Amino acid sequence: MKQTRLVIVVPCYNEEEVLPESTLRLFQVIDTLKRQRQIDSGKILYVDDGSKDHTWSLIKQYATDSHIAGLKLAHNVGHQKALWAGLEWAVSYADIIISIDADLQDDEEAIYSMINYYHKGVDIVYGVRKGRKTDTFFKRYTAQAFYRLMNGLGGNIVYNHADFRLLSRRALQSLLSFPERNLFLRGMVHSLGYPSAIVYYNRKERFAGKSNYPLKKMVEFALDGITSFSVRPLQYITYIGLFFIFVSILAIVYGLCSYIAGNTMPGWTSLLVSVWFIGGAILLACGIIGEYIGKIYTEVKRRPHYFVEEYTGINKRSI
Ligand code: UDP
Ligand code: MG
Repeated sequence: MKQTRLVIVVPCYNEEEVLPESTLRLFQVIDTLKRQRQIDSGKILYVDDGSKDHTWSLIKQYATDSHIAGLKLAHNVGHQKALWAGLEWAVSYADIIISIDADLQDDEEAIYSMINYYHKGVDIVYGVRKGRKTDTFFKRYTAQAFYRLMNGLGGNIVYNHADFRLLSRRALQSLLSFPERNLFLRGMVHSLGYPSAIVYYNRKERFAGKSNYPLKKMVEFALDGITSFSVRPLQYITYIGLFFIFVSILAIVYGLCSYIAGNTMPGWTSLLVSVWFIGGAILLACGIIGEYIGKIYTEVKRRPHYFVEEYTGINKRSI
């Protein structure tokens, strides 16, 4: 059997309340997998995304155990980039890489089925939540709308899959070869094309701490997802423009007809409405184009995703 070294990458931002419990549970998973000879070795790699609480001192304390390693980023760069940092550091060591959130809202027991799929030759296993019962009404509906919109725009992402997934070493190497600065990992992974499978689980509530994804971050994330993966909004602008031209031709024909028929033209209202409407449409179009130009701007700057301030339990680029 091929060698199987597992690394579980866990991004953490102000997670001091959940870390003790999460560490215990992940430990248990690794232990069971080892006993069942599903893996040769297992490690948890915590990425501290510039936390302001005691997350890093906890990680350092845990890292005295050889199964735990930590990476401290110099400042808060957001979930996707923190995860990317962990993946980059894990790739030289691991054969199997699993990413999971620190709050273990994603059922860690699903890891067993993920590893099973890996042994069957699957490179990418998506963790997909069965329902959104534990989410608030608001989060549930905004999330659903987001997936529909993304797929409608040709983004093609796995429905209800967040960032709980297994990657084989070669899938991860391919993912890391993507040079872009705007990270939208779930879309990028989906475009790799290796054999993949889905594992369903029930998403739990956070057992402690609070969500670090307020509405502002969620909207930014959704916009990022759409503009990093689809140029259809730009095409729609053209269609809308064409449609308006068509409407204005109709209006001209109508105006001529009523003039010939001797009717006086209707008043200002219709004129004013159309001026406002067209003005709004143009501004909207400019806004969408602006979003993409912003993307190009961050891409051409080619700034690094993160800086590492400290690490523990690992050697640079090899854990
Ligand atoms: N997270 C991070 N950086 C941030 C925000 C969040 O690394 O700036 C991590 C956080 O510690 C957790 C994961 O991303 O492990 C998901 O965050 P959270 O649970 O707050 O989001 P939700 O589950 O509510 O979408
Ligand atoms: Mg969470």
